[in-house]
Amino acid sequence: MGTTVFERQRPPASVVEHSLAQSVHSVFWRDDLPRTLMPDRPALVGTHRADLVIVGGGYTGLWTALLASERHPGAKIAVIEAQRVGWAASGRNGGFCEASLTHGHENGMARWPDDMPLLERLGMANLDAIQASEAQYGMDFQFERTGQLAPAVEPHEVDWLKEWAAEGAEGVRYLDQAEAQASVHSPTYLAAVWEKDACGIVHPARMAAELARVCEERGVEIFERSHVTGLDTSGPGVAVATGDGRVIASHAVLATNVFPSLLKRNRLMTVPVYDYVLMTEPLTAEQLASIGWQDRQGIGDLANQFHYYRLSRDNRILFGGYDAIYHYGRRVDPAYEHRPETWQKLASHFFTTFPQLHGVRFTHRWAGAIDTSTQFTAFFGTAREGRVAYAAGFTGLGVGSTRFAGEVMLDLLDGVSNERTELEMVRRRPLPFPPEPAAAIGINATRWSLDRADHNRGKRNLLLKTLDALGLGFDS
Ligand SMILES: Cc1cc2nc3c(=O)[nH]c(=O)nc-3n(C[C@H](O)[C@H](O)[C@H](O)COP(=O)(O)OP(=O)(O)OC[C@H]3O[C@@H](n4cnc5c(N)ncnc54)[C@H](O)[C@@H]3O)c2cc1C
Repeated sequence: MGTTVFERQRPPASVVEHSLAQSVHSVFWRDDLPRTLMPDRPALVGTHRADLVIVGGGYTGLWTALLASERHPGAKIAVIEAQRVGWAASGRNGGFCEASLTHGHENGMARWPDDMPLLERLGMANLDAIQASEAQYGMDFQFERTGQLAPAVEPHEVDWLKEWAAEGAEGVRYLDQAEAQASVHSPTYLAAVWEKDACGIVHPARMAAELARVCEERGVEIFERSHVTGLDTSGPGVAVATGDGRVIASHAVLATNVFPSLLKRNRLMTVPVYDYVLMTEPLTAEQLASIGWQDRQGIGDLANQFHYYRLSRDNRILFGGYDAIYHYGRRVDPAYEHRPETWQKLASHFFTTFPQLHGVRFTHRWAGAIDTSTQFTAFFGTAREGRVAYAAGFTGLGVGSTRFAGEVMLDLLDGVSNERTELEMVRRRPLPFPPEPAAAIGINATRWSLDRADHNRGKRNLLLKTLDALGLGFDS
């Protein structure tokens, strides 16, 4: 097997060790929230009535609540969150807010080629709406419409970039090696594509916290530390219950993403895949000058096991990705968030990417569960005679598309037919993952194959080709 640039150009072990020595296991974005954006909200106690009850206080639940408050002024809306608003994926992600609703153009073309022009238009409109929402609602989640840079770090990836650029999509610019390295000074870059319009970067935890604040200003009630254990539709509406309270509503939205669904039919639809992240200290002006990056694009390299990295408002670098770890039994478990070997690998890859930053320290390290579905993007639907709507399975690309999911679920509950509800992606559910042990065997064999492909000029083995042909697979 061949090697990757991250193995050929390893930094000294002492650089990696020093960089991690004082990092804390904590989510930078959450630690960076002002206290005013983390009010202590009440738990659900007693019986409440509402028009719409939403289970889950991440982006999906909060966008749904905000959009519902606009569609149905005066409606009584309640959000019930098991822990704290935005504590899960929505508060700990990379903050790449992409236009794509299909986990990239290629994945969309492979599944819904006829719908792709519409999906891409709707995705861009969704991203524009998120950008506009800061001014519209007086929110500050540090949105920057930076676009995204996709560098090739292995020779075979350069051809992929050329093919991508040759498709001639608007806003896509091919950069040769000199141009790519002039933009961001990494010696690993062999070429790059800069997709200028289709991505922004945000402060993820602020986005969740600001959505919650604006929802409450508009009369939405949010309950925290209230784990919903029951969904009862035997009466006329929907009753959702925690240990101490319940909400009886006309309709319910399930925005619980990678966590066990309250609907049995959705239990096998997602698997949690753990993704790991590092955050540096703020760079000095000289350190920043040494890497260029004037355009502040979000960066994602092209390998199957890819890295994503970006600047924060105060010029830290968030560096995440590569390992994507599935644990037998598909549980979401805080114990899986601790993985020193992955953080060491990420730190090593960071200094391969930016050797001029030797000496920089990481202040934070953390992990989170990626909401993987077999079609790599969200699925939608209703249950219980149309009284309950759900969306889940964003597969690591939900910062933008969760807002779109909110619109879709409200369409479905309102019983309207429009260009969103007509999409095949919305009308058809993907295949579930198999139960254990098949899930673990299949996912881990796929991961092994993807790693081999990255070490073998991108060549996909028989397993990957078969999965490609079946429209199945595994990604983060
Ligand atoms: C490390 C990491 C990096 C990522 N990077 C990016 C990125 O750069 N760009 C991007 O687009 N996407 C990224 N993602 C994915 C993105 O964060 C998610 O797709 C998105 O946040 C999903 O939002 P959500 O509201 O559906 O889910 P969540 O944020 O997980 O919210 C679901 C909420 O439901 C609550 N809940 C679950 N069950 C119950 C219950 N029974 N009762 C009450 N409450 C319940 C949970 O407590 C949770 O708060 C990343 C994810 C991770 C983990």
